[in-house]
Amino acid sequence: MDYDVIVIGGGVNGTGVARDCAMRGLSVLLLEKQDFGVGASGNSSGMIHGGIRYMMTDRKVTALACRDSGYIQRTAPHLVFRIPFLMPFASKRDGATLFEKAAWYATEVYVGTYDLYQPLKGGKPSTRLTPEELYAIEPALRPGLGGAVALDEWGIDAFRLCALNALSAERHGAAVRNWTEATEVMMEAGRVTGVRWRDAVTGESGLARAPVVFNASGAWSPALGRRAGVSVPMRPGKGVHLTLDRRFSNYGVVCAAVDGRQMFLMPHENDSIIGTTDDDYYGDPDDLEATSDEVEYLLEGVESLVPGIRRARVTRAWGGLRTTLYEYGKNEDDLSREHFLYHHDAEGAAGLLSFVGGKLASYRAQSEEVTDRILEMLGRPAVACRTHEEPLPGGESVPDPAELARRHGVAQGAAARLVYRHGALAEEVLRLCGEDPRLKLCLCRDEGILAAEVVHCVRHEKVRRLQDLRRRCRLATGGCAGLDCARIAAQLAAHELGWDAERVRAELSDLLELDWRERRAVLDGAQLAAQEMARNVHRGLGEL
Ligand SMILES: Cc1cc2nc3c(=O)[nH]c(=O)nc-3n(C[C@H](O)[C@H](O)[C@H](O)COP(=O)(O)OP(=O)(O)OC[C@H]3O[C@@H](n4cnc5c(N)ncnc54)[C@H](O)[C@@H]3O)c2cc1C
Repeated sequence: MDYDVIVIGGGVNGTGVARDCAMRGLSVLLLEKQDFGVGASGNSSGMIHGGIRYMMTDRKVTALACRDSGYIQRTAPHLVFRIPFLMPFASKRDGATLFEKAAWYATEVYVGTYDLYQPLKGGKPSTRLTPEELYAIEPALRPGLGGAVALDEWGIDAFRLCALNALSAERHGAAVRNWTEATEVMMEAGRVTGVRWRDAVTGESGLARAPVVFNASGAWSPALGRRAGVSVPMRPGKGVHLTLDRRFSNYGVVCAAVDGRQMFLMPHENDSIIGTTDDDYYGDPDDLEATSDEVEYLLEGVESLVPGIRRARVTRAWGGLRTTLYEYGKNEDDLSREHFLYHHDAEGAAGLLSFVGGKLASYRAQSEEVTDRILEMLGRPAVACRTHEEPLPGGESVPDPAELARRHGVAQGAAARLVYRHGALAEEVLRLCGEDPRLKLCLCRDEGILAAEVVHCVRHEKVRRLQDLRRRCRLATGGCAGLDCARIAAQLAAHELGWDAERVRAELSDLLELDWRERRAVLDGAQLAAQEMARNVHRGLGEL
């Protein structure tokens, strides 16, 4: 056999399992048909939280996610950031009706119970805020609120979390291929024997053999399962988010949509995110797009608490598919967020495993559980898991941005951004500027991306397409839709990867198409014109 295990899918569960298996001495092949995190993982709300919402029905999910959130903060300290949340009350306590008082009381008890889990994830206990305190910290809220409860959560760049797990897997000996699809799971006498794959960039195809195949292809799992003759029950749910062009609020704000569903507005990296819808999805996972109805539903929900929200520009609407466990007769919101590992032995596919459900926040624990199982299936002795201790690449230390900026002669903001994204490796990125001072060029006014970061990502982070830089360093995600940065980044990538002019043009056009899919549901007349101009400027420049 070529490998002990083949992992299909480079989301957080696939990359997490590939890393854990490689760290425990297994030979691993990881296949991702596009790029790391392009599925649910990178399109999630990016919260390494306990999921307070699930505490009522899925207490196990909350406990697991809180514990794992603590471990992720320890192994990727540079990549996580605090997001305190506010749950405002509609009326003042003294003038409240009996029903409103009961709601106050119930919320406080509920949040107080969540406090018991906070130490697991390094969270601060909840606090009750008077109306005066509430408006002092969050003046954007509508007038007349009776106070709030504040609670502590954590965010992460989920695209980078997936990429770092993949890179760490590779450092531990795994063969890691992005842009490579598993086209067929091969069987012989009721056992899995390997996978056929095809590289979307080079067109090359091949065959890899292994006694265990782990299907972590998220919402694509049922289709992959059908091709292998097995069933992967799942109830995929579409979740849409909006990105605003700025940090609109200081805190995350929990709001209610028109149908009473809980939703939120929160600051996340340089933007704000509004999320999320949750609707059953029966379509093709490769053809997921937000609609203008979903955009309106989300804006309306936030507007009920944050009246000025429409003053901000919605720059993108993007969606992901929750891979929730199959249950009939329940509303989407009430579906369990637990996870399940299917063994397909009884269906004539011994050695094939499929993962369904779970949370980004608990990916490490989920991966540990799957890796334990894979070791057992291979008949290997148990090896202790170390993913809760060993830092992800860059997580070894968090350098001081001011000191880095001074030593390398770059703006402190640019250094801080590099430290956030690359941790201890920020030094390595900035060293490139010493070799070629032109790499101090700031490519994007929104994001402060230095040319050096693009070169570093291309050299060390498995960038194969221009659009991969969107996920590694947020290229072209800002308000200008890549007008500032995409062309120069394409030239830097071309220099590193040997692309000719034709390839540069194709990569730029692909990046713009991706961007267009996320923008068309949110554009009005003037913005539509700006977007058309951006597309044509790139096309025109490409022709030169
Ligand atoms: C809207 C939304 C918000 C969420 N918010 C949160 C949150 O804030 N916190 C939290 O903890 N959880 C959250 N979740 C849940 C979390 O995102 C998921 O549980 C998790 O990301 C699932 O990861 P995965 O690796 O199983 O799947 P995915 O991330 O979907 O990965 C599957 C991968 O498989 C690849 N693939 C498919 N077919 C093939 C093939 N044939 N060959 C090779 N590769 C293939 C795909 O390209 C994809 O990259 C959210 C989910 C959604 C949808």
